Amino acid sequence: MIIDGRKIADEIQEGVAREVEKLRERYDIIPGLATILVGEDPASKIYLSMKKRACEGIGIRYEEHIFPERVKQEEVIKRIQELNDDERVHGILVQLPLPPHLDEDLILEMVSPKKDVDGFHPINLGNLFIGNENLSPCTPSGIMLMLEKIGVDLKGKHAVVVGRSKIVGRPIAAMFLNRDATVTICHSKTKELGEHTKQADVLVVAVGRAKFITKEMIKDGTVIIDVGINRVEGKLCGDVDFEDVKGKASAITPVPGGVGPMTVAMLMRNTLIAAKRARG
Ligand code: NDP
Repeated sequence: MIIDGRKIADEIQEGVAREVEKLRERYDIIPGLATILVGEDPASKIYLSMKKRACEGIGIRYEEHIFPERVKQEEVIKRIQELNDDERVHGILVQLPLPPHLDEDLILEMVSPKKDVDGFHPINLGNLFIGNENLSPCTPSGIMLMLEKIGVDLKGKHAVVVGRSKIVGRPIAAMFLNRDATVTICHSKTKELGEHTKQADVLVVAVGRAKFITKEMIKDGTVIIDVGINRVEGKLCGDVDFEDVKGKASAITPVPGGVGPMTVAMLMRNTLIAAKRARG
C-alpha cells in the first residue's frame, strides 16, 4: 500500500475548515497564525508559502514577520513578545533553521507555550514525554494520524526510529511509547544500523540522506514512514530507496506526497486548537 498523505491531509484540512467556520459564526473568532522568517533560505520560503496557502484555503488569518539575515536576537525576541500579547494571534511559528548567530533554543522558548503551534517549547515537549499530547510537533503527530488512518495498531509493535532530532525523531519516539509500542531510536553513532531496522514492524526514517534505507535493511511486511526530503538531480526523494523496498514493505509513504502534506495539515489543526483554548 502506498500511503496517500495528500488525501489524508486534505480530509484533515476540510475538517479544520469546518471548525474554523463554526468558530467564526458562533463566537466571531478568526484563528490567527503568525510566522517568523529570518533570512533568505529558499527552502524556508517554500515551506512558508505552503503554510500561507493552507491558511488561506481554510480561513485562518495569516501574517508573516520577515527579518534580515543579520537581525539582532533582541529584535526577534521583542517581536515574539508582541505576538504573545496580541489577541488576534493564536499560533506563532518560528521557521527553522535560524542563522547561527541566533540562539534557537532561547528563541523557541520565548514563544508562549499556549501559542506554540509547532510544539517545540520545552513545556509542550515535556508534556509530550509524560504522555500529554496537547500542542505537539506537527510532523510526528501527522505520522501518528496517518498510521491510525491506515489501521496500524501500535500496541506491542516494535517501532524503530532512525534520527533523533528534536523536531522529528525524539518526539515521534515519545508518541510511539505513548501508544504502547516498544521503541528503538537510532542515530549516527548507532552500530549495525541494519540489525535494528530489520526488527521494525514500523520504521520511521528522518535522516536527510537520499535512498539511505534499502531492502536489505528491512523485514517483510514492515510499515515504512519516510520523512526525508532530499533533492537528487533536481528531483525530490526520501531517505528510503522507494523502488527498492516497495515490494517488501506492507505500506510506505511516497516522497513527495507522503509526510510533507501531513505536516502542514497538523499545523492548521494546532492553530485551531490554540484558538479554541484561547476562548476557553
Ligand atoms: P536532522 O539533521 O536534525 O537530524 C538527522 C538525524 O539523522 C540525526 O539524529 C542524525 O544523528 C541522524 N543520522 C545522520 N546520519 C546517520 C546515519 N548514517 N545513520 C543513522 N542516523 C543518522 O534532521 P531532521 O530530523 O530535521 O530532518 C530529517 C529529514 O527529514 C530531512 O531530510 C528533512 O528535510 C526532513 N523533514 C521533513 C519534514 C516533512 O514535513 N516531510 C519535516 C521535517 C524534516 P545524530 O543525532 O547522531 O547526528
